[in-house]
Amino acid sequence: MKREKEKLESLRKQNLLRKIETLKQKTSPTQLTLENGEIFLNFSSNDYLGLSQHPEVIQKAITAIKKYGIGSASSRIISGTLSSHQALERDIATAKKTEKALTFSTGYMTNLATITSLSQQGDFIFIDELSHASLFDGAKLSSATWRPFQHNNINALEEILQKYSQRRKKDQRFLVVTEAVFSMDGDIAPIKDLVKLKKKYDFFLIIDEAHSFGILGKNGLGLCQQFSSEEIEAKIGTLSKAIGSSGGYVTGDQSFIEIILQKSRPFIYSTSPLPAQVEASRIALQILQSKEGEKLRKQLRENIKLFCEFLKIPQQESPIISYLIGNSTQALELQKALRKKGYFVPAIRYPTVPKGTERLRISLLAQHSQKDLKALAKALSH
Ligand code: PMP
Repeated sequence: MKREKEKLESLRKQNLLRKIETLKQKTSPTQLTLENGEIFLNFSSNDYLGLSQHPEVIQKAITAIKKYGIGSASSRIISGTLSSHQALERDIATAKKTEKALTFSTGYMTNLATITSLSQQGDFIFIDELSHASLFDGAKLSSATWRPFQHNNINALEEILQKYSQRRKKDQRFLVVTEAVFSMDGDIAPIKDLVKLKKKYDFFLIIDEAHSFGILGKNGLGLCQQFSSEEIEAKIGTLSKAIGSSGGYVTGDQSFIEIILQKSRPFIYSTSPLPAQVEASRIALQILQSKEGEKLRKQLRENIKLFCEFLKIPQQESPIISYLIGNSTQALELQKALRKKGYFVPAIRYPTVPKGTERLRISLLAQHSQKDLKALAKALSH
């Protein structure tokens, strides 16, 4: 107990203790009510298109519960594979124009599963230094050796590839792991350059599209949509952000997906995704490819454009606005000041972001009104 008490005290002194807020209710994507009754305008959500509250999505989840019950009661490889799981995987593979897709209960598990199964001892994983914790954890859990490279720096990556290529053995696989849109910075990986670099250094490319799937790229299907499975071997995404449900998927060629199914521990040793989340994901995937989805994305793009103008910052494509502060105490103070004015905007601190880059992470939704955006921009500049 002494050790834990000391650790907690150290976190408290550095202003790094995490506080969990409890929501009483959430009836709209842009509004949240805390247990004490306080109501906030929500700028902390990844539900970019508001689909978690969409009536058809909710209805499909209810129908699935009535058909299958709540839990799926078994791992996918025992008796936990329902026709809904198979249908969702077919839907994703068709939408993403790949041979196969495999789904998981969370995006986190998807990343662990994909990286650990596509690498083995003797292989090298090169990972963008600002990648999500689940990508790093996948690399750490694998039997391969991993090295970070400077964020979005294609030259830095090439230097590392060059260095390790000199001693590369015949069967040694190189894997490059990155995100399409970075979760805490909202910036975008140089995907075309990465695909070009592959031709020179022969590596497998694994890209996590958690924050681009649903909102960017053709039909909102992600920024990797235009690239084949030979160019990007594994395209990963979550169903818990723009899809508004929960879960994760990986797409790729048949043999890749089959080996993940055969080998990956998060797939084999965990109860399969809930029927309700799977059916909610299926209908949300349909909505995002429809005219309604296009309209929601247009609204989101307009909101991003307007907010950047209001805040007088350069225009950007993603709805994640990183408002840099550079120190945890000040980030918390600003978070508190905004709460007093009715805005729920999370302060992001170490270790989620590197020390010295503490920030507010503002996420914009299609449902924010012009008035909401203007008000937050004004609150930030006072
Ligand atoms: N990858 C990225 C880039 C993420 O931002 C997240 C969620 N924060 C995940 C993976 C994990 O997804 P999930 O929440 O579905 O486990």
